[in-house]
Amino acid sequence: MRFTRLRLNGFKSFVDPTDLLIADGLTGVVGPNGCGKSNLLEALRWVMGENRPTAMRGGGMEDVIFAGAATRPARNFAEVCLTIDNSERLAPSGFNDQDMVEIVRRITRDAGSAYKFNTKDVRARDVQMLFADASTGSQSPALVRQGQISELINAKPKSRRRILEEAAGISGLYQRRHEAELKLNGAEQNLSRVDDVVEQLA
Ligand code: ATP
Repeated sequence: MRFTRLRLNGFKSFVDPTDLLIADGLTGVVGPNGCGKSNLLEALRWVMGENRPTAMRGGGMEDVIFAGAATRPARNFAEVCLTIDNSERLAPSGFNDQDMVEIVRRITRDAGSAYKFNTKDVRARDVQMLFADASTGSQSPALVRQGQISELINAKPKSRRRILEEAAGISGLYQRRHEAELKLNGAEQNLSRVDDVVEQLA
């Protein structure tokens, strides 16, 4: 799965629409302290479904919206669009007939986040699963934040295992297992209700 383009609008310091083409090979982003290099990496994580404000260095999810500056008012929404080369057809069925797919996440103040997959509305889960199954995603070990290497060295074995599971592309299975368990519980409860009704009728 190859990312080819990242577009930001109102995301953190990127108040004006910004278009970043990601060419083949190595891409380097250089700039002075505070110019927004880490914000770009966070935009990538965010569009892939990151939902922890702390991972965005904020107190709440709306902190990703441009907060205003001396000469510019705050924005009311932030949007990030990620374009992916889908020539390997890794996108979920129903969305898998095109060579390029576009994932858009938009957050509006007091209205939360909405996701689109090739202009179709989708759930956060759909986007998170797509990336988890492709061994990438908001918590991918391929995205290394500042301070993460020393955190990793000092981490407990359980946290290190999570990183290996992400890399192996099996982290999406935990979510699916959890959902299957919820369904199973629901079915068991329904069955016991049926038993009660049968008993009353007998
Ligand atoms: P360094 O090299 O020091 O790590 P960097 O290039 O990675 O810096 P970032 O940390 O990505 O820079 O960007 C920090 C800048 O983003 C700060 O100037 C901060 O004020 C700005 N910023 C963060 N969130 C917002 C927001 N919601 N609205 C406006 N500006 C923001």
